Amino acid sequence: MDKVAYLQTWGCQMNVHDTEKIAGVLRGEGYAFTNKPEDAALIILNTCSIREKAEHKFLSRLGYFRRLKKKRPAMQIVVSGCIAQQEGEKFLIDNQYVDFTFGPQNIAKLPELILRDKRKAAVEENPYLAETELPSIRNDGTRAWVNIMYGCNNFCSYCVVPHTRGRERSRPMDSIVNEIRTLSDEGYKEITLLGQNVNSYNDPNNGTCASFAELLTAVNAVKGIERVRFVTSHPKDLSPELIAAIGDLDKVCEHIHLPLQSGSTKILSSMNRKYSYAQYLDKITALRDSVPGITITSDIITGFPGETSEDHKETLSALREIEFDGIFAFKYSKRRYTRAADMEGQLDEEIKSERLKTILELQDVITDKINRKLKGQTVEILVEGESSSDPAHWTGRTRTNKIVNFIPVESVKKGMFITVNITNSFRHSLEGQPDR
Ligand code: SF4
Repeated sequence: MDKVAYLQTWGCQMNVHDTEKIAGVLRGEGYAFTNKPEDAALIILNTCSIREKAEHKFLSRLGYFRRLKKKRPAMQIVVSGCIAQQEGEKFLIDNQYVDFTFGPQNIAKLPELILRDKRKAAVEENPYLAETELPSIRNDGTRAWVNIMYGCNNFCSYCVVPHTRGRERSRPMDSIVNEIRTLSDEGYKEITLLGQNVNSYNDPNNGTCASFAELLTAVNAVKGIERVRFVTSHPKDLSPELIAAIGDLDKVCEHIHLPLQSGSTKILSSMNRKYSYAQYLDKITALRDSVPGITITSDIITGFPGETSEDHKETLSALREIEFDGIFAFKYSKRRYTRAADMEGQLDEEIKSERLKTILELQDVITDKINRKLKGQTVEILVEGESSSDPAHWTGRTRTNKIVNFIPVESVKKGMFITVNITNSFRHSLEGQPDR
């Protein structure tokens, strides 16, 4: 069979960027890529185990590939990512038609795994992960994600990430800045620095232990890069130095995604988040004082074990008090290997769903109120190209991470910075008119 690969990804930006690296490694081995799995010699499914729903979606898709392999037995089926890491050899035992698996720390082993006769689960710890340079295939041309660290040390009681991605390791600052200089030379304009907890970045090679604020300063100085973003931030590590850097550095965008998770300090403690609601609120105040116009988005988990209706009300009251620009809200999902899975007070799905509905309805009203205020304003957007949901529109993003859709005009091209007049607002996007 020809060297043709089909890649599919579930989950977060870390996973999406891991797939870009998997593609980069495969290209080095002479592989081309297809959108049709039926034409592929190699199928790689890069999985997510953060929530039960993502796992179910992957398993149902895997069933399709099992049937496909019956018709084309030479085809290799490979499972990577967090489910592969979490399940190890057991996944291969339970799924005999899967050729091999590898975890997020073992992407570099892909060429040797493809050629192996024996099935293997490559899930071992990689002590050199932070120093491993892998090629990536990035298709955007304008916006790029760059890993600055791997793993997490926080062990939030609901989260499987420290078990699947291992302990926290920061990439050397020089290596990160060099990658960004190369991206700038290739025409990239916007960089998003990626890590599970970017605020705790700590350059291992720098004698003075460069912090995330220092890294931001170095990235800000790269010529040709116009916007710098970062995800994800942990509130406990959001230092005054970092808040000042976000305010001072001209390319660092006025947006932060700062997961709150719950408005109840009791629940935050049982989540092992290491901050109280009052402490979180202080950080929000400091951000809004130091970074004028900053937009703040967040994550909320509803129905965590032991969450009472009073705790739920505290989350609703936090949403009203803070007025996030937007949130991602999820029902608590029991994950193997996590402490919360064994906690008492697990709630019924019905209660979780009802609380989620209330949270989303409230946030919709808040987001709508905030976005309405933008009508009539002129803002700068970076043009991303055709809207994925409506081919009649093009889309771009403000520095504050608001999506603006507009009717394309001849002079506007992907990758341009243009100004638009906001003519309409919706809950998840804005509509604008290019000012040219
Ligand atoms: S900070 Fe908490 S939620 Fe985020 S990856 Fe680490 S353990 Fe998971």
